[in-house]
Amino acid sequence: MPSSALVVGGGLAGIAAACDLADAGWRVTLLERRRRLGGMVASFPDPEGTVELDNGEHIAIEACRELYALFGRLGVGDRVRRQPRLSIPFLGPDGRRADLGESAWSFLSFRFLSFGDRWRVARGIGAIGRLKDAEIARLDNLTAREWLEDIGQSPEAIARFWEMFVCPALNEPCERASAALAARVLRDAMGRGPAESRFGLFTVPLGTFLGEAAARWLGERGGEGRTRECAVVAGSRGRAPDAPVGSARWIVRPPPRNARAPRRGGPGTGWRSRCGRRVGLGG
Ligand SMILES: Cc1cc2nc3c(=O)[nH]c(=O)nc-3n(C[C@H](O)[C@H](O)[C@H](O)COP(=O)(O)OP(=O)(O)OC[C@H]3O[C@@H](n4cnc5c(N)ncnc54)[C@H](O)[C@@H]3O)c2cc1C
Repeated sequence: MPSSALVVGGGLAGIAAACDLADAGWRVTLLERRRRLGGMVASFPDPEGTVELDNGEHIAIEACRELYALFGRLGVGDRVRRQPRLSIPFLGPDGRRADLGESAWSFLSFRFLSFGDRWRVARGIGAIGRLKDAEIARLDNLTAREWLEDIGQSPEAIARFWEMFVCPALNEPCERASAALAARVLRDAMGRGPAESRFGLFTVPLGTFLGEAAARWLGERGGEGRTRECAVVAGSRGRAPDAPVGSARWIVRPPPRNARAPRRGGPGTGWRSRCGRRVGLGG
């Protein structure tokens, strides 16, 4: 009989961990406190209720290899339209459009930046591509705006170019976004050459199918995805336990702020959901 594993938090990280465990032969219970698996990958109806809009991931770039691997594994790879060549449309306030592509010409002729700013942005992209992890970590006390200014970007270049990438990716404008997070996102998105930056666009809102696909996939392998279940995470001062609990091993993937100190008596071979229901794990 396979061993059981419990994964707490049904966001992308939890889903990926659950899939890895299931592939390795574990019977996995994936636990999510919200009503749908997916975490930050979620969709909501627009105010008229006519279309579902994605919150969280709006695009996947070619460099997101693990994400594409997960889509392939869950059998939903066909719901992403991958660009054969990079093409990013920019629209001005007057409705005029300019597309950034892979050719140097598309950048040299990009009308929303002055000639000087094109030069600054090109140099900025080069510098960001060379950033080492340790250098990125040191940016943690700066905002993205402060850091972009430090690397020679003008206010216009920040507003007309960098903001278009930082704000959608981090859900914060450059004024408030962490420089360390922005630098990592920008390096991954732009620092590996245009082929790695090509967009993958979801043909159906990601939040409407990812969670279902994950639950189905786990179910087919003897596991399950449970929603509306909030785990009280055992472990001292928010540290997740890694040791086997009874016959189940715990994998805890929610953000640390959601971790709770252990309850006296511990969870045994299950855990107590916040509403007091005890969930057993066989195996
Ligand atoms: C507006 C926005 C735009 C984005 N755009 C992009 C993009 O274009 N491209 C890209 O690659 N990335 C993008 N991202 C980032 C990407 O969506 C996230 O990095 C990713 O979804 C995070 O996944 P996660 O599993 O680490 O965390 P989460 O998605 O936060 O998942 C954690 C889950 O754990 C659950 N949980 C927490 N505590 C408990 C508990 N005690 N019991 C049970 N469940 C619990 C939570 O409810 C949550 O569902 C964007 C994010 C946002 C917010």
